[in-house]
Amino acid sequence: MFSNKWVRSGLAIAVVLIAAAVVYFSFFQPPTLPPVIPITKLGQDVQLGNVKRISVNGATLNVTYRDGVTARSTKVSPEGSFEKTLNNLTVSPDRIAAVEIVYEHPTQFGDILQIGMAFLPLLFIGAILFFFLRRSQGGNNPAMSFSKSGARVFTGDQPTITFADVAGVDEAKLELQEVVEFLKEPDKFTGLGARIPRGVLLVGPPGTGKTLMARAVAGEANVPFFSISGSEFVEMFVGVGASRVRDLFTTAKKQSPCIVFVDEIDAVGRHRGAGVGGSSDEREQTLNQILVEMDGFDTDTNVIIVAATNRPDILDPALLRPGRFDRRVILDRPDMNGRKQILAVHTKGKPLAENTDLGAVAKLTPGFSGADIENLVNESAILAARRNQKTITMLELQQSIEKVIAGPERKSRLISAEEKRIIAYHEAGHALVMQVLPNCDPVYKVSIISRGMALGYTMHLPEDDRYLQRKSKFMDDLAGVLGGRVAEEIVFGDITTGAANDIASVTDLARAMVTRYGMSDALGQRTFGAREELVFLGREISEQRNYGEEVAKQIDAEVKRIISAAHAKANEVLSTYRAQLDAVAQRLMVAESIDRDELARLVARPQFAPIPELVAAPVASAG
Ligand code: ADP
Ligand code: MG
Ligand code: ZN
Repeated sequence: MFSNKWVRSGLAIAVVLIAAAVVYFSFFQPPTLPPVIPITKLGQDVQLGNVKRISVNGATLNVTYRDGVTARSTKVSPEGSFEKTLNNLTVSPDRIAAVEIVYEHPTQFGDILQIGMAFLPLLFIGAILFFFLRRSQGGNNPAMSFSKSGARVFTGDQPTITFADVAGVDEAKLELQEVVEFLKEPDKFTGLGARIPRGVLLVGPPGTGKTLMARAVAGEANVPFFSISGSEFVEMFVGVGASRVRDLFTTAKKQSPCIVFVDEIDAVGRHRGAGVGGSSDEREQTLNQILVEMDGFDTDTNVIIVAATNRPDILDPALLRPGRFDRRVILDRPDMNGRKQILAVHTKGKPLAENTDLGAVAKLTPGFSGADIENLVNESAILAARRNQKTITMLELQQSIEKVIAGPERKSRLISAEEKRIIAYHEAGHALVMQVLPNCDPVYKVSIISRGMALGYTMHLPEDDRYLQRKSKFMDDLAGVLGGRVAEEIVFGDITTGAANDIASVTDLARAMVTRYGMSDALGQRTFGAREELVFLGREISEQRNYGEEVAKQIDAEVKRIISAAHAKANEVLSTYRAQLDAVAQRLMVAESIDRDELARLVARPQFAPIPELVAAPVASAG
């Protein structure tokens, strides 16, 4: 990228230099001037009456003969009259009088032209230097609009996005409705002396529609929308970020009322003074400039700044104080109802088969963000097209859910019969333990078809959206995740690497129970380890030990105890249900995948009333 740029500008310099050389040499080709004659010859010609006109320019004489021929000659000295010179050449006075003698202005135009020509190449080089200097300051900016804000503007002409395109976030819409009203009728608010919201911060995980929402606000209010992302401010050479902010706001103020949207503001808005090296200085300047601009708004400046971030925790506190981004609108992952509405938005205009039940799809997609749902609908449309169908059916939707959760199927992967047996028992082990233990989420599908990196997978989904997790569920979940490994132990008397991911997730969960959730009786209700973000590494989280060696040992012992308990539980289940384990594994080897109903026929789900618990995300336990 970098070297490429230099090659390109090098080429450009070469072309310009060659052009300059061509121009230079064509200008400096000696002009075809009339021949020079001696002054004595000129005297003789005047005496003979052949000369019509002589123009005197300093010491230069331009001679025109009566027959039209021209010639040049030189006077001995620039001073003194030319008539006198002719007299000295013994030309008779009447002959001199017959010649038209003109004196030109002593500052010679020809000379100026020549001087100009001499400077022409210099001018060229100067222009080239100037051009490239500007260019290099503009940096990587492809538009070469050195220090121009580079914001994209969306105005009323294009098909606008409105609140109707954003589904399942009714509270956020309600909050932003106020902003829309203000943009539409600013006078109504200012008339009552209300202070206008200046900054609105949209907060939410990736893909929850923050960018979409900002555009919808502009669309609803029907005002211009300037969009720039935080990283675009920072990408350039030092000092340009701040000037971009200035340009952006200058332009925006001219177009008010309007919306300035700063996407991913965490790229510039991190805590100041926390970073390392030059880039953080640049960020600091950019952030300061944003703050200055926001403070500089008059009450009649109808510019509203909408910013989006998924990391509000790392934003500089100065951004969040009143008068700046004092309004926060949370966009969370949609609940079941919200997912249904988002599905409706994205399937609008797509031919759906009659059997499709968007409610059922919504139920199968807990934890999906709006972007995931859009992706899911798109995948199923592609699938239907590849199958030459006229409509999208439930089958495509279901298969796309699996694809979005677990990655694309890899049917071509060749697996030996022996390995297939191991994988089948491993997955059957997961499925059985999850099916039998009451606190586990119901199994939605078991499969030994490779997907993404996993050789097989057991997909289990919660019945409802959950926001809280219970310790008893964690314990059953741990047993379910260990079910694969335990099945290998029981059936083959040996263990494989297939459980590596399971082991890792079990360790993480057990450790979190002890150190973060206070779920260990031995260690009590406290957290262990201070989590800290390393700013210069961006997303890295480091855990700082704030406990001693003795406690570290206790934590390890507790983690081990929890995992052992889960292992024992899985072992108990699979030993008790050994016959069903064989049945599920056999069926898997034949059919490659088993759905929820078939599994229920092989192993009945215990008749516990479903516990109304809440879970954050779907867990596809793989491996
Ligand atoms: P974010 O900026 O929060 O990361 P985006 O606004 O870029 O997410 O969303 C990506 C895409 O996901 C959108 O273009 C839209 O198609 C879809 N999407 C996200 N949330 C919603 C929603 N609430 N309603 C409809 N579509 C949504
Ligand atoms: Mg976005
Ligand atoms: Zn596994």
